[in-house]
Amino acid sequence: MYDVIVIGSGPAGLTAAIYTTRANLKTLIIGGVSWGGQLMLTTEVENFPGFPQGIMGPDLMANMRKQAEKFGAEIVEENFTSEEFSASNGKSFTIRAGDRSFEGRSVILATGADTKWLDVPGEKEKIGRGVSTCAPCDGPFFKNKDVIVVGGGDSAMEEAEVMTRYATSVTLIHRRDTLRASKIMQDKIKSNPKIKIILDTQVSKILGDFKVTGVELANVKTGEKREMATDGVFVAIGHIPNTALFKGIDLDEKGYIKVYEHTKTNVEGVFVAGDVHDIHYKQAITAAGFGCMAALEVEKWLREQNSK
Ligand code: NAP
Repeated sequence: MYDVIVIGSGPAGLTAAIYTTRANLKTLIIGGVSWGGQLMLTTEVENFPGFPQGIMGPDLMANMRKQAEKFGAEIVEENFTSEEFSASNGKSFTIRAGDRSFEGRSVILATGADTKWLDVPGEKEKIGRGVSTCAPCDGPFFKNKDVIVVGGGDSAMEEAEVMTRYATSVTLIHRRDTLRASKIMQDKIKSNPKIKIILDTQVSKILGDFKVTGVELANVKTGEKREMATDGVFVAIGHIPNTALFKGIDLDEKGYIKVYEHTKTNVEGVFVAGDVHDIHYKQAITAAGFGCMAALEVEKWLREQNSK
């Protein structure tokens, strides 16, 4: 019997585990077959406090994991399967991962959020062959090439800015006539001579037999379609929270986990941390902070249960 089972092994899950193990709570992390979360897909992280020279995303995650394991956290590199969460028996939760089952007195949901795709012809089969969602990871493959970035939010601005370090030209394509991104990010993009912005336009097809050679663009106001040559398509249109497998947990209208009081979900004994409930910040440091908060709440809740 574990005191707490953490589902997810990004900054939220691993920080939660560092705190729960240091509080002497027997902790299991269901890490997933690809443990570590989104930071495993990035290169240099320059805004995580404590690393003035920056740190590579996978190194940061390896350090967090080492720190959690040092205090006794166990980690299972299997995918969480599914769970009907209910506080009905009030005793424990059975959590399944791969073909194994684990019992926990409390649970922290920290499964993060995945990339949203355009869902247009030619996209899926060209992932890794010109279609990407991670400029810092794949940027070097597009040295001296032309690329497009799709999206109008801060992520798209960031991707476009990163790609100017590698590509000859970057074209930002957004479906509306106004960008959604913060003013500071917009200003940065608009003043960068390497970046061209096309508004009111959707990417309706990604072209190329094997690799990306171009895109079909559709003007949303006129309906006019045209083709544009490009070597790469960076999709940066938001994320989908990983909540599909959580039955009985209240979600908001966008599918993120609803938080009731502090980090508590609607099910007693089940807490939440990180991007799986945070549509707004989505930073490694905020996810880690939420992990800390969830762990402190679990500790308090278990203490209350013990004194009943
Ligand atoms: P977002 O703010 O939700 O923006 C997504 C963008 O993609 C929107 O412009 C949206 O268009 C567009 N979009 C969505 N679905 C689309 C589709 N099917 N086809 C074409 N375009 C589509 O997501 P985000 O940029 O990932 O940012 C998420 C949160 O993280 C935000 O709060 C953001 O401020 C934050 N963030 C902050 C930083 C930073 O501060 N450094 C960096 C990255 C992200 P519409 O505008 O028409 O809806």
